[in-house]
Amino acid sequence: MKRIGVLTSGGDSPGMNAAIRAVVRKAIYHGVEVYGIYYGFAGLINGDIHKLDVGAVGDIIHRGGTMLYTARCEEFKTEEGQKKGIEQLEKFGIEGLIVIGGDGSFQGAKALSNRGYPAIGVPGTIDNDIAYTDFTIGFDTALNTVIEAIDKIRDTATSHERTYVIEVMGRDAGDLALWAGLADGAETIMIPEIDDSMSDIVKRLRRGHDRGKKHSIIVVAEGVGSGVDIGKEIQEKTNLETRVTVLGHIQRGGSPTARDRVLASRLGAKAVDLILAGDSGKVVGIVSNDIVYDDIDHALSMPRSIDESLYQLSKELSI
Ligand code: ATP
Repeated sequence: MKRIGVLTSGGDSPGMNAAIRAVVRKAIYHGVEVYGIYYGFAGLINGDIHKLDVGAVGDIIHRGGTMLYTARCEEFKTEEGQKKGIEQLEKFGIEGLIVIGGDGSFQGAKALSNRGYPAIGVPGTIDNDIAYTDFTIGFDTALNTVIEAIDKIRDTATSHERTYVIEVMGRDAGDLALWAGLADGAETIMIPEIDDSMSDIVKRLRRGHDRGKKHSIIVVAEGVGSGVDIGKEIQEKTNLETRVTVLGHIQRGGSPTARDRVLASRLGAKAVDLILAGDSGKVVGIVSNDIVYDDIDHALSMPRSIDESLYQLSKELSI
């Protein structure tokens, strides 16, 4: 292989730039040229493709977002869109593609691979919602952003003796809420994977209040429901003054943590190793701190679950 491509797709996540840098530098280290495809699969179809040299990825390792920009592209889900994409890649003489993104983006990589075009996926999403890998690029940074925000809210919660409901990202996956809740000593964590009854939550809040607790923090993953509605219900049922903060998009951006930069560097480099070895239809990940890879099909068929022991621990520590 003499020339490969790289794109980012789906939601941006901090560390994607570090992954792009790793792909570019590792490939060039092996004497292979790299082309950046801008705006995900949309840019692939449109031929928004430009050569990246060593310097093009300088000074990005510490930046959030993605220098290649990202997009969602319905057309790439069609046979016609995929054929157009492969035509563009062939036009530029690009012999394999590395796709950095979430599980939707992996479907795009799989579609290419099924058509005989070499493609490898690198997991980049703040949700940590891909089962085969312990962590996705961006999760650690988003988690630290959430924790910093909750620490600040906690100061106010304590000063005013209030209950705070904090809604964090996670439509289907509660990892961000779970880890943030544990790291921040939240009284209650509400995640889509675990059905905690409102009466139990109310009981716990009342118990804490009765033993003199000055404040309570409840971390809610957006997939459970609206934080605003949950806050209203809690106030009605506990009679405790309750405020709601929806953290929103501040969770997506920011300079990646050391952990995310290192993960992105390791995964990006591994993806290059695989593609240069002639592999296709694979995704890279990290399991017990080892860099691993798996077939996209197998990886995506693994049922997602959360670490229930963390949930249980959080409950035991927040009595
Ligand atoms: P996030 O986890 O941040 O949402 P994601 O990668 O899961 O990221 P999606 O919007 O699901 O984000 O997918 C990104 C893009 O991948 C889509 O806009 C589309 O271009 C491509 N894609 C998704 N599913 C398929 C599919 N079945 N076949 C081909 N391409 C797909």
